Amino acid sequence: MTNSTLLTVTVLGTGTSSGVPLPCCNCRVCTSNDPRDKRLRSSVLLTITDNAGNLPAHNILIDTSPDLRQQALTHNIDNIDAVIYTHTHADHIFGIDDLRGFNFQRSGHIPIYCDFLSASELERMFPYIFSPATPAEGAPPPELEMNIIDREQTFSCCGLKVTPIPLIHGKLPVLGYRIGGFAYLTDCSEIPETSYTLLQGLDVLIIDGLRDRAHNTHFTQKQAVQVINRLLPKQAWLTHMSHEIMHAEANIRVAAIAKVPTELAYDGLKFTLELHR
Ligand SMILES: [Zn+2]
Ligand SMILES: [Zn+2]
Ligand SMILES: [Zn+2]
Repeated sequence: MTNSTLLTVTVLGTGTSSGVPLPCCNCRVCTSNDPRDKRLRSSVLLTITDNAGNLPAHNILIDTSPDLRQQALTHNIDNIDAVIYTHTHADHIFGIDDLRGFNFQRSGHIPIYCDFLSASELERMFPYIFSPATPAEGAPPPELEMNIIDREQTFSCCGLKVTPIPLIHGKLPVLGYRIGGFAYLTDCSEIPETSYTLLQGLDVLIIDGLRDRAHNTHFTQKQAVQVINRLLPKQAWLTHMSHEIMHAEANIRVAAIAKVPTELAYDGLKFTLELHR
């Protein structure tokens, strides 16, 4: 029997920067009883096992949302082997201190991976973590090992081949990632032509679909479906959604215009793919 590798994706959060519900908002989505209308800030967990499901599994986190603590408790995440960052907007990084709990469970630093721009921003925003000249006062900071990746080059993380997918988020160059047949493209408003070639033959695509009204840094749900209809993955999910999107209703609208099975993602969504490597 061949020993293949399984990638399990757990969607930890599907909300835009504010999360849903918003404090002080009484709109019909913020007050909805549908659990799929509750959205923590966007992040996914990648768990790598062999086809027998044998431990130890490797856990890779994409982004450290401000809800990381709650996400880790909800999903019983007991180990983080690496973190990969898409970009450094607050909703994707401000859970960084919550990595401390995982430091206690392992020896050595947790490797983090990001491009040069994100590394510079992280070092500027968190000098107590990344600058040895800043002595720690009180609780020690998370122990992280910075790995700067080339935006154009596949890199290895926990034995996995990870391909950065250059994306445009308003005016900001950010990254999505592809691992085998899975791609995660949060926070984007444009996909460069050269990145389309990196996204052929996908099994599962998760892509930014903020809301229906136009936005200058995010795809609308219609624009996301246009990308999906061009890439034709076997299955697509929308993420990073605002409180203008009611799950049950938007799901029907999206399915009606998509050429492949397409749905809104929701917190706790989980699926497994086989990786050939
Ligand atoms: Zn975001
Ligand atoms: Zn609301
Ligand atoms: Zn962003």
